[in-house]
Amino acid sequence: MTDIMNPAQRHYCMSQIRSRNTKPELKVRQWLWHHGYRYRLNVKSVPGKPDIVMRKYHTAIFVNGCFWHGHGLTPNSSPNGEEGFENSECCRIPETNREFWVNKIRRNQERDQRNYQVLHENGWQVLVVWECELKPKRMEETMNRVELQLNDFFLQLHTHNRKPILYQQDSEVPIAAEESSYNI
Ligand SMILES: [Zn+2]
Repeated sequence: MTDIMNPAQRHYCMSQIRSRNTKPELKVRQWLWHHGYRYRLNVKSVPGKPDIVMRKYHTAIFVNGCFWHGHGLTPNSSPNGEEGFENSECCRIPETNREFWVNKIRRNQERDQRNYQVLHENGWQVLVVWECELKPKRMEETMNRVELQLNDFFLQLHTHNRKPILYQQDSEVPIAAEESSYNI
């Protein structure tokens, strides 16, 4: 199979993969473990093969590298009319072969969205933790947020009045409920 990347790209690519597979995901796992949470890794039966699966909380956690998943990228229009990306603080697309990287990241983002959608449709909560949110200064705040979301979703799953809570967020349902109550 022909390698579509030149050696510099390949080198960059591999270094990104290495950093992604070790540090950020490991930080999240260690934090969860030390706080008493149990999980499974890369469960193939769950759509999108999330990095961390917490069945008790019906939650899938994706620890996303800022570069590969295009954190904070905003679309812009390049002179030839094609949509590209403007660099964000934590995702800087190389100027060399820019189009290659833009397409790659865009495809990753589209795949992410499809996976999240399937998970939502199956009743899963999806939590995305960005690599930049795990820097020492932000780590605790990030994981506190994750913990809150885990427990909040757990409560929703196990509270009998779960439906009314969800209905309040849907503007159309209370109207229907009101009408039916008049009919009784
Ligand atoms: Zn980021």
